[in-house]
Amino acid sequence: VRAASGDHSLADVLHVIRVDGARSRAEVMDATGLTRAVATQRIAELADSGLIVPDGTAPSTGGRPPRHVRFAADAGTLLVADLGATSIDVALTDLGGTVLAHLGEPADVSDGPVKVLGRLEQLFTRLVARRRSDPAVRAIGIGVPGPVEFGSGLPVSPPIMPGWDGYPIRDRFTARFGVPVWVDNDVNVMALGEWRHGIARGHDNVVYVKVGTGIGAGLISDGQLHRGSQGAAGDIGHIQVTPDADVRCRCGNTGCLEAIAGGGALGAAGEQAARDGRSPVLAAALHERGRVTAQDVAAAAGRGDATAFALLQRAGKDLGNTIAGLVNFFNPSLIVLGGGVSHAGDVLIASVREVVYRRSLPLATRDLLIRRTALGDRGGVIGAATMAADELFSRTALPRWIGDRATGAGVAVAHV
Ligand SMILES: [Zn+2]
Repeated sequence: VRAASGDHSLADVLHVIRVDGARSRAEVMDATGLTRAVATQRIAELADSGLIVPDGTAPSTGGRPPRHVRFAADAGTLLVADLGATSIDVALTDLGGTVLAHLGEPADVSDGPVKVLGRLEQLFTRLVARRRSDPAVRAIGIGVPGPVEFGSGLPVSPPIMPGWDGYPIRDRFTARFGVPVWVDNDVNVMALGEWRHGIARGHDNVVYVKVGTGIGAGLISDGQLHRGSQGAAGDIGHIQVTPDADVRCRCGNTGCLEAIAGGGALGAAGEQAARDGRSPVLAAALHERGRVTAQDVAAAAGRGDATAFALLQRAGKDLGNTIAGLVNFFNPSLIVLGGGVSHAGDVLIASVREVVYRRSLPLATRDLLIRRTALGDRGGVIGAATMAADELFSRTALPRWIGDRATGAGVAVAHV
C-alpha cells in the first residue's frame, strides 16, 4: 500500500500523532478513518523516516510497527523569529515548538528590511553557532508586524513598515539558509501558538487580541487559523472608534482604535500627564529616561497612581467596545489578550471584561472566557515555530521532507 500521489494519508497520520496525540494504530484509524492495512503502512513509513518513535515500554517486535508511538520532536530544529515594531526575538526550537535557545533585543522595524533582516540573519547565525550539537535546522518561521500575503510570504502595504511592501523575505532567507521559510503576520502566529500550546488549547473559535505598540487580532475559526482572502483578517487596530479628527494614527487615518488605546497612545498620554503635573510617578519616569512608555504607565498604575490607573482603564474600555463588536459578530468561546501592554497588571483586562460582558449579546457571552496569554513574551517565537512545523508537515510539504531525508539532504546545523 504505497501512497499514490495526491494521497494525503501520510500527512494525516502524522498530524493525528503530532497534534492530536494519537498513540496507537487503533487511535490513528479512529482519528483518520484509514483502514488497518493503510494505517499500519503509514505508521511504518513515519517510523522509518524518524518522525515518530516508539513510546512507552511495549517492545517493538521484529519488523512490525511498535505498539505505541509518539512524535519525535527532536528529529530536527526550527529557526524562528518574532519581529515586533520595536523588538526582535529569535529562537531555536525543536519540531514540537519547545524553545531550546532564545535571543532578543530592541529594534526599530521602520529602519526597513535591509537593516532589520540583516540583523535577524546575524542573530540566527549566532544561535546556530551556539547550538552546534543540535539536530539540523529543517525550516524557518518568521512573524512580522503587518499584513502578509501568506501564499507568497510577501508583506502587503504594512502601515508601520515603510520599505517592506512586497519585500521578498522568504527568498532572502531560503537563499541564505537553504531551508523552507514561512512568513506570516505576528498576531496570526501568536494566535496559532496560543491555540496549540497555550491557554486556547481545545477551543475552536478564538480571538487573540495583541495589545503592543499597535493593536491587532488573530482568529481561530472552526479549528483553523482564519487569514482572510488577502491575509489582512483581524486588523482591528485601524477600525475607526472616534470621529475626532485630531486623533491621528500612524496608518495615515484618524480616529483608529490603535491611536487611542495602543501602547504608543498610552505612552504618549502618560507623558502628557507627566508634563501636566497630574502624575508624580510618571513625572519621575520622564525625568529619568526622557520619555514615558506604556510599560511605565502600567507600572505606575500598579503602584497606585490614580492618573495612570485611569489611562489604562480608558484604554481597556475602548478596546472592550471593539472586542464586544467582534464577539457579537464572531461568537468565540475565548478571547485571549496578549502583547506587551497585556502583561502589566489587571486594570486593562478588568475594564475589557466589564465592557464586553455589558455590551455583547447574552447568548454570545454565556460561555465566553476572557483570559491573558499563557505564553508570556515567548508567545511570538512559539507561534512562529508552530506555523513552521504545521507547514513543514502539511500535505504538500511532508512528501518532500521525507524525500530529502531519504537522500541525506537537509541542512546540517554546521553548514549554516
Ligand atoms: Zn490607523
